[in-house]
Amino acid sequence: MTVDTARFATRAVHAARSRETAAARATPIYLTAGFEFDDFDHAADHFSTGTGFGYTRTGNPTVRAVERQLASLESGADAVLVASGQAAVSTALLSVVGAGDHIVSSTHIYEGTRGLFLDNLARLDIETTFVEDIADPDAWRAAIRPNTRALFAESLANARNDVLDVAAVSAIADEVAVPLIVDNTLATPSLLRPIEHGAAVVVHSASKFLAGHGSVLGGVIVDDGRFDAERAGHNAPHLVLPGRGGAPSVFSRHGGRARIAYARESVAPRFGASPSPLNAFLIGQGAETLSLRVERQSRNALEIARWLESQDAVESVDYAGLPSHPHHETAVRYLEGGFGSIFTFTLRGGLPAARRFVEDVRVFTHMTHIGDVRSLVLHPGTTSHAQRTDAERAVLGVGPGTLRLSIGIEDVADLIADLSRVLESVRETVA
Ligand SMILES: *Cc1c(COP(=O)(O)O)cnc(C)c1O
Repeated sequence: MTVDTARFATRAVHAARSRETAAARATPIYLTAGFEFDDFDHAADHFSTGTGFGYTRTGNPTVRAVERQLASLESGADAVLVASGQAAVSTALLSVVGAGDHIVSSTHIYEGTRGLFLDNLARLDIETTFVEDIADPDAWRAAIRPNTRALFAESLANARNDVLDVAAVSAIADEVAVPLIVDNTLATPSLLRPIEHGAAVVVHSASKFLAGHGSVLGGVIVDDGRFDAERAGHNAPHLVLPGRGGAPSVFSRHGGRARIAYARESVAPRFGASPSPLNAFLIGQGAETLSLRVERQSRNALEIARWLESQDAVESVDYAGLPSHPHHETAVRYLEGGFGSIFTFTLRGGLPAARRFVEDVRVFTHMTHIGDVRSLVLHPGTTSHAQRTDAERAVLGVGPGTLRLSIGIEDVADLIADLSRVLESVRETVA
């Protein structure tokens, strides 16, 4: 019996079996849970060596294509795509740290990541020390302990737009043979590639600039592929010691790529935050236009930041592209072709002014997201940073009148007209 002579219900599920290998120029979307094995040995080989594709949670050609693309954009050796930015951060960390280990992190990080450190990793007996002045190398050194296994920071941070001296902090990580993991979401590889400055691992929320259109969630871990067993093996027994049942170590199988191989084999598929191939496709397509969007967004953002700084209703603007920013020189040194498009500014009128502002915008969208083609606004003090104390918010640059902008690709004249009209009504409100 062939499929053609089978009965209706059988033909319904078997007649459309694709075995075409056509050289599609755009990345095809392999929206399939799994892949047919050629024969008995092929299945056994796949399970023993991990080569080829078997099940989408452990590998998928669409996902693989996007991993290669993003590894290339970040000047890394390899990448693992996961379902969200938070999955990227947790996968990267759980590939490096275990119970009893310690992390040193910048305090200027995404609130979700801070929660991961304080609520989730802490329960696994992984403790984190936070560094406030990330520009002070001694502050990083002082926080390191014998059981420190990772340094973590964002290259360009929200809300205060702190800029990481990637080379300086990478060198400190290197002194103790642990990886510096950099969340490069806000800078994007279009402006800064941390691996080129010595970082070992880069993570992203691909939901932001990489996908770019505010339609999907995703995350990626990119690795430099330079794991050195001789220097760092004592800090990574899970990479250099034999596996369960005496299996060859990850390092003996993957060499310098041991860390990312471990993330791909043991962490991402086990904790299970697998990306949908459809989302992977959309992230890959977004990344094709990343440089164009970031260039336009950065240009728009600089013009808007300068304009805001000249308004009397505005108390301060925290944008690394402005000479008034304390990290402006570091930004000039590290960011190529723009200063990014996410920043905060503070209105003189405090909370009532901020409320009026978000309720009055028309071209800007009031929502919690960043890195979109559309311009967005959010009041951090009552949303993302609501759980913080006043003192903590002050350190992070979040006051009652502070607003976060994510600038899109619209015509900047329309954006400034929207802001100008809103500031006029803010002045009336608080006058
Ligand atoms: C959004 C974001 C995350 C979390 O990413 P999701 O895709 O929302 O899970 C992590 N880090 C930074 C800097 C972010 O902006």
